[in-house]
Amino acid sequence: MSRTATVVGSGPNGLAAALALARAGLEVTVLEAADEIGGGTRSHRPFTSADLLVDHCAGFHPMAVGSPALGDLQNYGLKWVWPEIDCAHPLVDDAAGLLHRSVEKTATGLGSDGRRWKRVFGYPSSRYGKLSTDLLGPVVHVPRHPWLLARFGAPTALPAATLARLFTTPQARALWIGAAAHAMRPLTEVFSSAIGAGILTAGHHNGWPVAEGGTSAISQAMHHALLDHGASVQTGTTVTSRADLPTADVTLFDTSPTAVTSILGEALPSATRRSYGRFQYGPAAFKVDIAVRGGVPWSDPRVAKAGTVHVGGSADEIVTAEADVAAGRMPDRPFVLVGQQYVADPQRADGDVVPVYAYAHVPAGLDIDITEAVIERMEQFAPGLRSRVIETVTTTPNSFSAGNANFVDGDILCGASSPTQLLLGPRPGRDPYRTGTPGHYLCSAAAPPGPGAHGMAGLNAARRALHDLNRH
Ligand SMILES: Cc1cc2nc3c(=O)[nH]c(=O)nc-3n(C[C@H](O)[C@H](O)[C@H](O)COP(=O)(O)OP(=O)(O)OC[C@H]3O[C@@H](n4cnc5c(N)ncnc54)[C@H](O)[C@@H]3O)c2cc1C
Repeated sequence: MSRTATVVGSGPNGLAAALALARAGLEVTVLEAADEIGGGTRSHRPFTSADLLVDHCAGFHPMAVGSPALGDLQNYGLKWVWPEIDCAHPLVDDAAGLLHRSVEKTATGLGSDGRRWKRVFGYPSSRYGKLSTDLLGPVVHVPRHPWLLARFGAPTALPAATLARLFTTPQARALWIGAAAHAMRPLTEVFSSAIGAGILTAGHHNGWPVAEGGTSAISQAMHHALLDHGASVQTGTTVTSRADLPTADVTLFDTSPTAVTSILGEALPSATRRSYGRFQYGPAAFKVDIAVRGGVPWSDPRVAKAGTVHVGGSADEIVTAEADVAAGRMPDRPFVLVGQQYVADPQRADGDVVPVYAYAHVPAGLDIDITEAVIERMEQFAPGLRSRVIETVTTTPNSFSAGNANFVDGDILCGASSPTQLLLGPRPGRDPYRTGTPGHYLCSAAAPPGPGAHGMAGLNAARRALHDLNRH
């Protein structure tokens, strides 16, 4: 009789776990609460005034390209496409900082900081292929490339604001702090450099591409691969208790640790319940999708060629904004991540009307409408934007959590990226994936290596489950 697996949740981690288990010959069932698979890797057409394709959550994929969890998805229709400029950071009354896949080209644009940028990011990014096996694995493990990891890891222990002092030009400082701000935590704290260093290093190796036809192309390709391996996927099925779980040899949860506690209840060892009870969630996102006629009129026209745009002003402004958010205050000048995916994937636009995706970092659970503040912040770097806006669609922190239970109070990372949680996940110990209930594993972004559409928590958890299964 073949062995069976249930995966709760069909985000990229759940699908990656399901795929690894199905490829190992298990009979896999995926149960998804939403009416559509994909979790943070979905796309939709939310506007009434134009037919624009928009990524609901994840848009840019420096960590997903080449991820072992996504493997051969190009055989199932996934195609990566790159913008001319990977990321731009506009500044008031100054030229924007521009990030290219090539470290050399980026350094050339950074003037007196060029050599230093190359020194920080050149070595790790040229060896990213090797480094990624350690970075994307369970963090507590025997590294395969200890010296490379140590050389990469030592600076990441520093506060991002301290590392910013390496640079003197406003462009290099802003580019660095803008990337570090993806961590959504105070940039003056230790280890706040980790996520920024990871995405810049991966980005200098892989670029910051988008998925052709929308980020949902990632989950669709995984779905096709799963069907090819005989797995079944049921949408519209919320698991709330053990009674909802089919009997299976292994069960993996692409959910928050909080959901695992409420589903498994008393079946979860009390030590795990305590650890999961202490798990902390981070700030939220407030997203505004904007239909813009003729594109955003950036003051520095080169910004129009970038896929990702960090709208946050100077490095110091971003440090202040992230500190406010972490303290539960709405910043006067929020940090806004802008996506111009259509630059790489023109089919997302409708004639001269283009979809611009913008989300601000805000305090958890914020329940006021800040659409105007987001547009106002963009206007500071793109005067005249407002007159080109033909429609906006907002996703508040509460609507993020209503559409995906993993985004607790709008926390799009499914857990605060504090040093302990980033390194160890929600259950300190040798294995962040085992829940302590035999045969039951956590496989979501709450487990290492953390957030992103790379699927690696799913693959790592599936490997752990297969290892345990094969011992019995
Ligand atoms: C606005 C935004 C922008 C982002 N930008 C990027 C980006 O550019 N690049 C990037 O790499 N990442 C980005 N991310 C983060 C990325 O989307 C997530 O880190 C990633 O989706 C996490 O994958 P996951 O599989 O762990 O969980 P999720 O993708 O959150 O999926 C979890 C799934 O489980 C389902 N589920 C939960 N509980 C249950 C239950 N009890 N029963 C059944 N089903 C359940 C949910 O409905 C959901 O479908 C962004 C996220 C957001 C919201």
